[in-house]
Amino acid sequence: MLVVTGPSGAGKGTLIHELVERQPAIEATVSATTRTRRRGEEDGREYWFLTDADFLERVEAGEFLEYVEYVSGRRYGTLRSELDRISGRGRVPLLELETEGALRVKHEVPGAVTIFISASVEELERRLRERATESTGEIGERIELARRQLEQAEEFDYVIENDDLDRAVGELTRLVTALISPAATMPRR
Ligand code: 5GP
Repeated sequence: MLVVTGPSGAGKGTLIHELVERQPAIEATVSATTRTRRRGEEDGREYWFLTDADFLERVEAGEFLEYVEYVSGRRYGTLRSELDRISGRGRVPLLELETEGALRVKHEVPGAVTIFISASVEELERRLRERATESTGEIGERIELARRQLEQAEEFDYVIENDDLDRAVGELTRLVTALISPAATMPRR
């Protein structure tokens, strides 16, 4: 299992999108969330959009590998059924998680490899404001959280700087390909 993490605005989503096009042995899990759907998002594609009650019922039933409460009380989590679905197709699941969930998976799931996507504070702020899909208050909250998350980079197995998209995609693809090849001998930090 691979975990890609990093602050909101670091470009995790874009990098993962590019990665799975280049490396078909990888498939991204579709997380469940209680946040509202953004324009262009589809249920079951970007996320499984759940009500709070439905989410909590699934937590109670033990259906989540991990879950977290993020800004503004929004919940996000990885359903175990997603891992079974992807493994069943002979692929390696890739999880995109905020740092708290990623650290939990790192410590609790044997063999999970964590990759931190980093960016400068200025770049994070710029991307979050440009995206501007959240209300102004929530963007401020996300920027503040992103600053704190940047400081956690050292806790993960690998760090990739997303300063230049093409370069970062190349680095991520090479790393993941080496990690999933049977003779993988990538040194871990
Ligand atoms: P967004 O609302 O921008 O789509 O996602 C907000 C944050 O939630 C991102 O940092 C993303 O990586 C994280 N996230 C998405 N799905 C999950 C999940 O299943 N578990 C955890 N822990 N974080 C998630």
